[in-house]
Amino acid sequence: MEVLKLETKRILVLGAGGFIGSHLVKRLKREGHWVRGVDLKYPEFAPTQADEFVIGDLRDPKVCDLVIDTSIDEIYQLAADMGGAGFVFTGDNDADIMHNSALINLNVAEQAVKKNVNKVFYSSSACMYPEYNQLDPENPKCSEDSAYPAAPDSEYGWEKLFSERLYLAFHRNYDLDVRIARYHNIFGPEGTWRGGREKAPAALCRKVAEAEDGGYIEVWGDGKQTRSFLYIDECLEGTRRLMDSDFTGPVNIGSEEMVTIDELAQMIIDISGKNLGIKHVPGPEGVRGRNSDNRLIEEKIGWKPTQPLRVGLEKTYRWIESELIGIEGKRCVIKTGNYI
Ligand code: NAD
Repeated sequence: MEVLKLETKRILVLGAGGFIGSHLVKRLKREGHWVRGVDLKYPEFAPTQADEFVIGDLRDPKVCDLVIDTSIDEIYQLAADMGGAGFVFTGDNDADIMHNSALINLNVAEQAVKKNVNKVFYSSSACMYPEYNQLDPENPKCSEDSAYPAAPDSEYGWEKLFSERLYLAFHRNYDLDVRIARYHNIFGPEGTWRGGREKAPAALCRKVAEAEDGGYIEVWGDGKQTRSFLYIDECLEGTRRLMDSDFTGPVNIGSEEMVTIDELAQMIIDISGKNLGIKHVPGPEGVRGRNSDNRLIEEKIGWKPTQPLRVGLEKTYRWIESELIGIEGKRCVIKTGNYI
């Protein structure tokens, strides 16, 4: 009987302490690869499964020189200074977002060529699409060929566009094999859910989990802005398939199930079983409408995500609820200790 042997690679995951990076490490380990993770911090919610984990600042060229060595077959570059609307759209973090993420990508592209890395995956974002195509919440346009003339609505989006072009230029001039995905709102358990960098699904799950039955939750804006959200497992499936394909991209990795933010909030309220109202308050919103367009990914790699939003939301809500209960539990212990 023929025994099929899977190819084991030496893979570097940059941003391995973050949400997508820590899940990706788990997936690559399940596939049998050797993995080195790099980040400013360890994953927050579960121990890393990487074979090696380097705490290092990728803005520093010396750190990139060290972690990208000639033994590395593939790199997944997910490290970025990023967050949800409360971090990206207020304007307060623009300089850091542009400077920090651009430095990381400049260093990584250079070292990947110097060390003859076979392939580099870069995680771009739907935030690079022009604002003028996303003014109508019912009909946003996010096909890959609609990226130009460029007009992202945030500096985060401009940096993503710059770095896409950087990796493509290295591809053309230095033969660096690259894969570029434009992620659309990835969510799931073990993602940031408080502290200011959390994104809409996690923030709304937290608000609903914290709310008293019969009360209300706050939603930024009028709630009519539209988005689609992709569950982490499907994001990783698309990422792995793109990496193993011969298509460079850029290509969307996102869901086509577009909902208004009010619909998203209501879905989470329904999952919680609570009776809650929605109160609209001013806050950073981003573009009026956004949805993934999956025609290109289906054509090029014969795959697109299909899982309904509600399935992933159920898992995410239960996880955030359990995190909150954990914190409440710890608070009780501290209180009891103080009283004694
Ligand atoms: P995340 O913030 O959880 O992970 C990014 C990680 O990069 C963090 O752990 C952070 O500590 C690390 N990092 C930042 N600066 C660093 C530095 N100087 N040196 C080393 N590490 C550094 O974000 P995520 O949601 O996991 O996103 C991963 C990638 O996907 C990012 O590039 C992001 O822009 C992109 N993306 C994410 C989404 C999404 O919805 N989550 C959507 C579009 C694009």
